[in-house]
Amino acid sequence: MVQIVGILIALAGVGALLYASERLFSAVRGQRLWRRDSGVDLLYWLITPLVIRAVSKILAFGVAVIALAVLDRQIGARIADGFGPVAQQPQWLMLLELLVLGDLTGYWVHRWFHSRRLWRFHAVHHSSRRLDWLSALRVHPINDLVTKLVQTSVLACLGFPLKALAGYVLFLSFYSTLLHANLNWSFGPLRYVIASPLFHRWHHTTEDEGLNKNYAPMFPFLDLVFGTLYLPRGVQPTRFGTSSTRVPDTYIGQLAFPFRRAERSLRHPESPARQLSRSSIGASLHV
Ligand SMILES: [Zn+2]
Ligand SMILES: [Zn+2]
Repeated sequence: MVQIVGILIALAGVGALLYASERLFSAVRGQRLWRRDSGVDLLYWLITPLVIRAVSKILAFGVAVIALAVLDRQIGARIADGFGPVAQQPQWLMLLELLVLGDLTGYWVHRWFHSRRLWRFHAVHHSSRRLDWLSALRVHPINDLVTKLVQTSVLACLGFPLKALAGYVLFLSFYSTLLHANLNWSFGPLRYVIASPLFHRWHHTTEDEGLNKNYAPMFPFLDLVFGTLYLPRGVQPTRFGTSSTRVPDTYIGQLAFPFRRAERSLRHPESPARQLSRSSIGASLHV
């Protein structure tokens, strides 16, 4: 309970700081602090930390089961403290590798959630039409759990200690609030190195714009390498949401949405054919 209260206090502090920054450096000017759907996002903020404990237990159990299945039994039993060459490196090098490999895994899992099969789980996150820091936690629990499970399992099987992975997952959640904030920050010369609000907000635009681009959680150069970077210079995205997938407005409706049968008239924004044509075109890099 103390842990949950601590997380809520920390999030409130981060939120207050981001609200103040959003007023000073707005990407979309005149956007209200309290949107029509802010109540739904607030529910995600209140409920997600409450289930974090349960989720983290499922997550730790899942990682242990996967590690024991993939690794030698003796090594698998040592995943909590890390093992092998990875755990014997200097800490700064291990941290750097953790961030890059974690991001690489995160990139592909995110891209996987944009595929036809998983899109309805991820469409919930893309359903915000006005984007600010509060939108960050609008993530379907299955989307959240699968992403974290794949990321941490891959890293645990490579030998990274579980404690470092727990810190990494928490850090990504906090960083995500900055990426969604209504801020015009691009990080200038570091725009291709560290993900900025501008970088991720393009990812939330409608299908005709930057959707299916900018998948990396932290490092835009991964999108550059895989041909999915979209960063028009001097332009701020303004139209957010999905135009061809209608996600319900209510919290319960959003949780149930992936399990409901899709309306036949609605197309998925990224058909395999479209993926193919996009990847053959390569990166839309306007610099
Ligand atoms: Zn996405
Ligand atoms: Zn997002």
